[in-house]
Amino acid sequence: MTTATIDRLAYFPYTPRLHQERAVNLAVEAFSSNTVGLLSADCGIGKTVAVLSGYFAARAKDPSSRLIALTRTHSQSKVFESELEVLRGMDSTLAATTMVSRVHVCPIRHEMESLSSTGFMRACAGMIRTGQCNHYWNLYQKSSSEGGRITIREEAHHVIDDLLDSGVVTRERAEERAEQEGYCPYEIMKLCARKSRVIIGPYGYLFQTRVREALLGFIGIQLHDVDILVDEAHNLSSHVLDAETAKLSNEDLRWLRENSQLVVRETGISWIKEAIDFLWETMMIHLDSMRHKGERVLDKWDVSPRFIKEGDLDLLHEAGRPGMNDPENASLAETPLDRLIEFLYTAQKASRSDGWHVTIQVQKNWQDDGPSSRSTLMIQPLNSAGLTAPILRGARAAVLMSGTL
Ligand code: SF4
Repeated sequence: MTTATIDRLAYFPYTPRLHQERAVNLAVEAFSSNTVGLLSADCGIGKTVAVLSGYFAARAKDPSSRLIALTRTHSQSKVFESELEVLRGMDSTLAATTMVSRVHVCPIRHEMESLSSTGFMRACAGMIRTGQCNHYWNLYQKSSSEGGRITIREEAHHVIDDLLDSGVVTRERAEERAEQEGYCPYEIMKLCARKSRVIIGPYGYLFQTRVREALLGFIGIQLHDVDILVDEAHNLSSHVLDAETAKLSNEDLRWLRENSQLVVRETGISWIKEAIDFLWETMMIHLDSMRHKGERVLDKWDVSPRFIKEGDLDLLHEAGRPGMNDPENASLAETPLDRLIEFLYTAQKASRSDGWHVTIQVQKNWQDDGPSSRSTLMIQPLNSAGLTAPILRGARAAVLMSGTL
């Protein structure tokens, strides 16, 4: 279909306001020419609905196309959800789902007190394996005729279809329906996403390798099949750099030293105590010689203990991260132990290449009871373009939109 034959406003649900028509045109051009488009327009002109309707116009002859809309915040996701609900008024077959991390929607999270998200993921996997999580096994079954393969229960198919047919699958709708049926809300969202034409998720879903592979593997498509829409794209570069940056503060290290027995027990790895002491020593030695400077560049070997067993670390990192075919939110580094594992993993990567910048940073704060300071060991990638460009170019098409590009 050439752009000349596309009915550009066929899916636009309102009377177009000033500039909205140009935004629709840009989306149509980018998606139908399979290229990367950049939309910079002031806040409030209605970019989201313009680009979504342009997307559906460009892909009108390809109902199996997939759009992954990436947002930075919960409120941005809500805007997508409400505009997609309006577009469903024009095409009731339009299926759309928002994905949220497993750890944030698990109804029995409180029963699995653990030091880390890694611990939560392990506990969740254990509950599934031992048959203790009814929320999971109400949804799935082991098929004896297929050698124990896990399949979706017949009645669950109907629930998924009903959710998708009756509106955009938001976190709230998924949680409410999961509670009624006794299902795991995360698994509900995952199954709905597999059947959705539009999936809404955080930037990390496509810009973190492991998460991207898991998501695309689960849906059963390749990157070159996917259209991408990045909201508030001026945040993308810093987000990607931040997401790849590993940090460990003096407070984290203090907590880890005080709880080192617990940490060894939870991870099952004895050298981890030595690694904590190694990083603490690095921090103390360099703090002593920094005087009043706020930052000092370190050698990569200052943060990468040579005695670490790479195989152990990979297993540990893997346990807290999404496995293949199980897309998850990338931002699981919520506790000092999560941050330690992420830090050691990144330090290993940094020790093998020159594309990283290792520093110690000191931030002074003034509080009512006097000055205090926070020190942080930091490992950052040197540039974000090398991380984002291959994804944007490797997709079928992409539109980056922003109010301040
Ligand atoms: S399968 Fe779902 S409900 Fe069960 S423990 Fe894991 S996240 Fe929680």
